[in-house]
Amino acid sequence: MTGKVYVIGLGPGPAHWLTPEASAVLEQVTDLIGYFSYVDRIAPRPGLTIHGSDNRVELDRSRHALELALSGKIVGVVSGGDPGVFAMAAAVLEAVENGPEEWRALDIEVLPGVSAMQAAAARLGAPLGGDFCAISLSDNLKPWELIERRLKAASEGDFVVALYNPASKARPKQIFDAFDLLRTLRPASTPVAFARAVGRPDERIVLTTLGEADPGVADMSTLVMIGATTTHLIARPDGLPFVLTPRSYEAGR
Ligand code: SAH
Repeated sequence: MTGKVYVIGLGPGPAHWLTPEASAVLEQVTDLIGYFSYVDRIAPRPGLTIHGSDNRVELDRSRHALELALSGKIVGVVSGGDPGVFAMAAAVLEAVENGPEEWRALDIEVLPGVSAMQAAAARLGAPLGGDFCAISLSDNLKPWELIERRLKAASEGDFVVALYNPASKARPKQIFDAFDLLRTLRPASTPVAFARAVGRPDERIVLTTLGEADPGVADMSTLVMIGATTTHLIARPDGLPFVLTPRSYEAGR
């Protein structure tokens, strides 16, 4: 009897942002595969084998999951946020595409999760109310020239931009290069938000402008949001202003 692979989105952090579907499946799986910091969120229980691994071995992790499923296990492959957004769903399908024929017949199901840009947007108000795009700044898997081309195209198209993977210890410089480029493309007054560890105890939201932003505040737990020309703030007597990108293009101009 063959098993099954569930690719499960754990959301941005807190348990209340995990879907009921994902919670139920996490109770059923026999094996859990994922990056240490994600599998660490799951409480051990009898009958569950947890296989934590390093961040860089996504394809190995996927092949391991597929092999376990072929041997009859019910495997959960976990990702933070949504598993389809810069995460494990693509890695698992890439392994299937390049793997043995029998992997294609496996039962594989992707369970959605709340992505970081949605959580960050919820904290800020409605920055994604108009057209937006998401770009990963990590150049581990693609050349930096392509990232630059996409940042230029996003500005040309006047999209709100959600930047994932803005910086890490191994890549401290890209976010500075990205801001240098964005400053030549968008007005200095453009609203910019750094939403760090959204939903976790160490959450921190910095709301600023493209002209004044310090890209150094971004780390690997930060989602950076760059406004479009229609994105603006609504002042409030207390706390941070709301960030709004109106749904109607004329309204905010
Ligand atoms: N699949 C995930 C994204 C994986 S890429 C999702 O849908 O959210 C990892 C990047 O996601 C991080 O570098 C950061 O940019 C962003 N991220 C993940 N969790 C976050 C959180 N709680 N707060 C802010 N950004 C987060």
